[in-house]
Amino acid sequence: MTVTFTADDYAHRMRRTLESAASAGLAGVLVGIGPDLAWLTGYRPTAVTERLTLLVLTPDQPPTLIVPALERPDAAAAPGAPALTLLDWYDASDPYRVVAPLLRPAGRYGISDSTWAMHLIGLQEALPGTTYHALSVCLPMLRAVKDEHELTRMAAAGASADAAYGEILGARFAGRRETEVAADLAALLRKFGHEQVDFTVVGSGPNGANPHHEAGDRVIENGDAVVLDFGGLLDGYGSDTTRTVTVGEPGDEVREVHAIVRRAQQAAFEAVRPGVPCEEIDWVARQVIRDAGYGEFFIHRTGHGIGVTTHEPPYMVAGEKQPLVPGMCFSIEPGIYLPGRFGVRIEDIVTVTADGGRRLNNTSRDLAVVA
Ligand code: ZN
Ligand code: ZN
Ligand code: ZN
Repeated sequence: MTVTFTADDYAHRMRRTLESAASAGLAGVLVGIGPDLAWLTGYRPTAVTERLTLLVLTPDQPPTLIVPALERPDAAAAPGAPALTLLDWYDASDPYRVVAPLLRPAGRYGISDSTWAMHLIGLQEALPGTTYHALSVCLPMLRAVKDEHELTRMAAAGASADAAYGEILGARFAGRRETEVAADLAALLRKFGHEQVDFTVVGSGPNGANPHHEAGDRVIENGDAVVLDFGGLLDGYGSDTTRTVTVGEPGDEVREVHAIVRRAQQAAFEAVRPGVPCEEIDWVARQVIRDAGYGEFFIHRTGHGIGVTTHEPPYMVAGEKQPLVPGMCFSIEPGIYLPGRFGVRIEDIVTVTADGGRRLNNTSRDLAVVA
């Protein structure tokens, strides 16, 4: 059962954000429309709007949301609104003049990555002494550790993606275009409860060797390995899973490469426990693939954080020293990409528990054969 987040939950998140900002030496945090605003206030304006909406969190006044006057009723209906002071501005007025009195003239602020550049420039022009840092750089762990109710939603999103995979195995692959299978996957994610589909990768044959291939016009052939990587948002929280299937019985090399990737994925999963640095998860997966002789073909990082977006910090990549903390959620998705031939990737979302990790994707990691 998912629990509705209350104004108290949002107030708690905003307090924690201010505490982290203070520890990072920031005078406050500014948040435009996007995932950070959704997480902090529950407000997700549906229209893409050039008008300034900005949450201002500082120790000097209560949390304040600056909104265009015509959108004030929408903002006031957000679940976190009772914890906010709303300040509106009218068309033909200067919204940065509404924000400026809330900021310290020489303050250093964190600003959400998704705040439009034109708004940041507007603030800099209104207050030339202020400086700004991207939130994902100055507070990278802001949304990384999930509470119990967030974990329930993450698990529900994972289970929904798993159900979609279970059903796509019964679909026809041979003779259809990648885009058709991708459309099936999108429909299945929606059928099993996703409100938003972010990506449906169908990388057949040589297209599977490009980790960021989405889906194209290629007609899937008998004998192809096909990378299926799909996800989106369910109840505001993300799913992201990959399985590689073969159309008809696999050849020896596909079978062997798949077994290596599966071992790498398992080894990385078994390495998950509190205190282990993110980069070690990458290193463990990479070591298995390197030992099997395919190191140069593992060209992608091992994983990424996930929460109210499907890709976010911290990343499971060399150089990321951030230690794992219970409640963090991230992907483990090693792959082997053989240019011009095929690719294999296996991906689960994993959450850190007190003594290890728990997978939020639980479909079989065997090499499935489709028709
Ligand atoms: Zn990628
Ligand atoms: Zn993925
Ligand atoms: Zn992923």
